[in-house]
Amino acid sequence: NNVITVCELANKMAVKSSEIIKKMMKLGYIVTINQSLDKDMAQLVAEEMGHKVTIYHEDKLEQDIMKNRDISNERVQIRPPIVAIMGHVDHGKTSLLDYIRLTKIASQEAGGITQHIGAYHIEVRKKIITFLDTPGHAAFTAMRSRGAQITDIVVLVVASDDGVKPQTIEAIQHAQAASVPILVAINKIDKPNSEPEKVKNELIKYNILPEEWGGDNIFVNISAKTGEGIDNLLKSILLQSEMLELKTTISGMATGLVIESFLDKGKGPIATILIQEGTLKKGDIVLCGLEYGKIRAIKNSLGKEVQFASPSIPVEILGLSGIPIAGDKVVVVGDEKKAKEVSIYRQMKFREKKLTKKSSFKLSNIFEKI
Ligand code: GDP
Ligand code: MG
Repeated sequence: NNVITVCELANKMAVKSSEIIKKMMKLGYIVTINQSLDKDMAQLVAEEMGHKVTIYHEDKLEQDIMKNRDISNERVQIRPPIVAIMGHVDHGKTSLLDYIRLTKIASQEAGGITQHIGAYHIEVRKKIITFLDTPGHAAFTAMRSRGAQITDIVVLVVASDDGVKPQTIEAIQHAQAASVPILVAINKIDKPNSEPEKVKNELIKYNILPEEWGGDNIFVNISAKTGEGIDNLLKSILLQSEMLELKTTISGMATGLVIESFLDKGKGPIATILIQEGTLKKGDIVLCGLEYGKIRAIKNSLGKEVQFASPSIPVEILGLSGIPIAGDKVVVVGDEKKAKEVSIYRQMKFREKKLTKKSSFKLSNIFEKI
């Protein structure tokens, strides 16, 4: 069970491969630079050469850090729904998201401009709805492929002058596979050639049926151009959300998901996240995919700095060691030093995986702490 080549071990210890070869010869082993060593041998050589070896077992580190999290779930509350808009190209997804954003967010609060952070939330009748601001299927598919489920409700936009199209069907399949309820927004009803009833009929084939026909899908006729029906759509989202009884704890250390990330030249890595459980506080230590960090600042979707982030409200976080990937889990942990170790460990595992995909040898599951 060989885990590391002589050359790799030399790199980790910052010595020349020839030094290892010489050392091993003294110990009675003849090896070449590309030969791989097993764990015991690698440890022996490293220690013989004066290095302290820490062996990280796959689960131990992570288990330790996860075990020491405060996951008190005393305070369970209803949380806002997270809504994804899906549908065929040109059926009006962007127009709908824009209409809702422009009419429902008090952009004056942010000094005129509403930042684009991949998601936004609005308040309707004192209740909050969060929209994933990434129209199309990309975000949804990316999340799903990474095993992350973030969407509570899919609003399926179907243009009433065009009907069910390939991407409409694809969206239905994604939502159904994920068991996410589908709310149908029949769009462009302002158009003279609009045929909303025809859309309803076309959808029967895909098991999408309005309540009056014995199904359980909510249908709303809208126009993303004139705004007609959009208040009704928002009310329906709240209704659907109530039926889902979305609850989570707001006490204890937060967990969440990354929905977007980028590198800001001045501020460093920035991630937009949605908290799923608990409350995130400024100064918290997080593990985030392969990265870790101490939360330096939290900003809401209006660009305002806040001290906390609660479930389902999108926020930007600053302070990560690198740029995470959409779908990465964010987990608040208790210990920065240990978080760093886990992050290093995860990065190593990640590189190993990439390497083993390319070549047959397996890189170590040991590494040096110098
Ligand atoms: P997306 O590809 O699904 O994001 O679709 P867009 O929002 O970009 O819309 C495609 C086109 O349809 C644009 O020219 C929109 O102005 C137009 N459109 C969207 N919604 C409506 C609507 O309700 N009525 C009318 N008449 N046009 C619309
Ligand atoms: Mg679009």
